[in-house]
Amino acid sequence: MMQPAAYLDKLNPQQRQAVEHGVSGPGAIDAGPLLVIAGAGSGKTNTLAHRVAHLIVNGADPRRILLLTFSRRAAAEMTRRVARIASHVLGANASVLTEGLSWAGTFHGIGARLLRDYAPQIGLDASFTIHDREDSADLMNLVRHELGFSRTEKRFPTKGTLVSIYSRAVNAEQKLEEVIGRFFPWVAGWSDELKALFAGYVAAKQAQGVLDYDDLLLYWAQMMAEPSLAADISARFDHVLIDEYQDTNKLQASILLGLKPDGRGLTVVGDDAQSIYSFRAASIRNILDFPGHFSPRADTIMLEQNYRSTQPILAAANAVIDFASERYAKNLWSERASAERPLLVNVRDEIEQANYVATRVLEYREEGIALKSQAVLFRASHHSGPLEVELTRRNIPFVKFGGLKFLDSAHVKDVLGVLRFAENPRDRVAGFRVLKLLNGLGPATAGRVLDTVGSNEALLPALQAFTPPRAAAQDWPGFLDLMRDLKSTRAGSPAGWPAELDRVRQWYEPVLERLHEDAQSRQSDLVQLAQIAATYPSRARFLTELTLDPPDATSDHAGPPHLDEDYLILSTIHSAKGQEWKKVFVLNAVDGCIPIDLGVGTRDEIEEERRLLYVAMTRARDSLHLMLPQRFFTHGQSARGDRHVYAARTRFIPPRILAHFTATAWPPAEAAAPAPRMAETARIDIGARMRAMWSQ
Ligand code: ATP
Ligand code: MG
Repeated sequence: MMQPAAYLDKLNPQQRQAVEHGVSGPGAIDAGPLLVIAGAGSGKTNTLAHRVAHLIVNGADPRRILLLTFSRRAAAEMTRRVARIASHVLGANASVLTEGLSWAGTFHGIGARLLRDYAPQIGLDASFTIHDREDSADLMNLVRHELGFSRTEKRFPTKGTLVSIYSRAVNAEQKLEEVIGRFFPWVAGWSDELKALFAGYVAAKQAQGVLDYDDLLLYWAQMMAEPSLAADISARFDHVLIDEYQDTNKLQASILLGLKPDGRGLTVVGDDAQSIYSFRAASIRNILDFPGHFSPRADTIMLEQNYRSTQPILAAANAVIDFASERYAKNLWSERASAERPLLVNVRDEIEQANYVATRVLEYREEGIALKSQAVLFRASHHSGPLEVELTRRNIPFVKFGGLKFLDSAHVKDVLGVLRFAENPRDRVAGFRVLKLLNGLGPATAGRVLDTVGSNEALLPALQAFTPPRAAAQDWPGFLDLMRDLKSTRAGSPAGWPAELDRVRQWYEPVLERLHEDAQSRQSDLVQLAQIAATYPSRARFLTELTLDPPDATSDHAGPPHLDEDYLILSTIHSAKGQEWKKVFVLNAVDGCIPIDLGVGTRDEIEEERRLLYVAMTRARDSLHLMLPQRFFTHGQSARGDRHVYAARTRFIPPRILAHFTATAWPPAEAAAPAPRMAETARIDIGARMRAMWSQ
């Protein structure tokens, strides 16, 4: 029995207009292209969830809705919300709706699924494996080695830089020369070598049946350029909706336009003032050009009421972004009155900063605010180092987003490498990783083994035919047994999953004992990995989804947190996108951190840093603390190596907007110990250059 759609009454008129756009009643949906553009906290994501629910309530088939979000976490959250809203009206079981909305995810995740479906049609082996950035860098390195470009050659780019250059060119659909000239001028002398290297890299990926992150978009875009495939894929989706559109790149936009060439059924949502991914070739033009592209059919809706932050927080954030150049003019306001302006907290250094944050966090918790409702944000992952030490010392549990991932630890990578090698034995990066674990088997021999594996079927015969060198004779039979088990018909099929992971762990245990002193704690990570594995239906899905969206690490172990625990959130600003907390601390709100890297910033890059600060500030609902250490530590990034540098308040808070903030110092003057001048100068290393400057 259908209930009246009470959920519409909770929306403001503009939100409601966006939700109802093109929906005139049950079974009557005919929606032209829609752009919702609005500032932070104005309910864009919430509106999108309501729109999806409203479409379903009015007869849209959830299985034919494609919902693209920035992270898998965001997709899961959105799906839950949609199900909650729609199930009230439909009286249906929410879990049925959640399952129906199976095409909700990131561009990369959805791309991987479509590619598996269409693999036979596009000449791709359906058992392709996916390389994360580190694997890509390793493959780049293998190819570099094969081509004989010496790494010791002066200034030949590192494998990480090589992947960045390659990726940027792919995502921006730009010529290599342009990308190098614009973003990597110092490698200009190597253009010819890079061209040969990248060609070799592409060939290696194809020969090995591996795809890197960029390929997932590239192949998808390519499919959309094939008329028959494009028609087939487009016909699967009646509605395509995307959140955070400002952070899509050209390739992603071309995929969307391929899916919905006339814009019917297409809804995009975003905020140009929050565009923070241009370093991954995201282009603000996508959102700015949307209305023109579909002119005159596109509708644009602006939302102006912010429901998230108190008025003083919003006023301060608006003041910061007011100086930004190109953007839609917005007039964001909040009804949430408060006397508490954002704080500018002056502290001596990062140690005191950590002290302040830990103290305040505990005070808030005393007041009844859960740790989970508080977050500490920072520009770069390493900025939270001293804080992590302090939190650990005080036994305050935390989870760090956007930092070290669960999968970054060697033992987890090893185990996944074995599974990946079984899934796709042509994957040489996985192959080398696995064979390296055998005692007495060097890289040259490993290379020879891998050379004989031409296909999935050839793996076992190749391994059986191989006579290991004497040093490896002891480990070899066990390895052969393992691979036999992993290639049995049961394995790789849902029936064999996740038992085969246990089989790998059993084989890996002695290896772990041999390689690592702290084998015990690493074992417990692997137990956790097994628990995660059990939530996936098959080996292939597990490997794909874990690579595309790896779980974050927590304070006490490498794995993700248990849901019922309370923990503080530590996050890079980039990873905090779209989220909100009652209390927000922003570390190192000083020049050199925000904006980072003053020396090399172009004007565009500096503007992006301003938007980052805006994103950070607008995550806060009730309280915002911007931390101003008088000096901070740089980690070997500057030409002069590790050192302390003296810091000034971020340039994005110039004197003329200071009235929006309350300045304070910590520890309070009376509580501070007498300044230990001598001891202090002895403790920090300011470097000869600084000392020379002072003595002048
Ligand atoms: P961001 O730009 O940071 O992604 P957003 O525009 O997507 O923000 P949401 O996260 O959707 O904003 O919403 C911000 C907050 O405002 C949420 O807590 C949401 O529940 C609340 N909210 C949105 N619309 C309304 C409304 N009409 N009435 C009450 N609360 C609302
Ligand atoms: Mg949002």
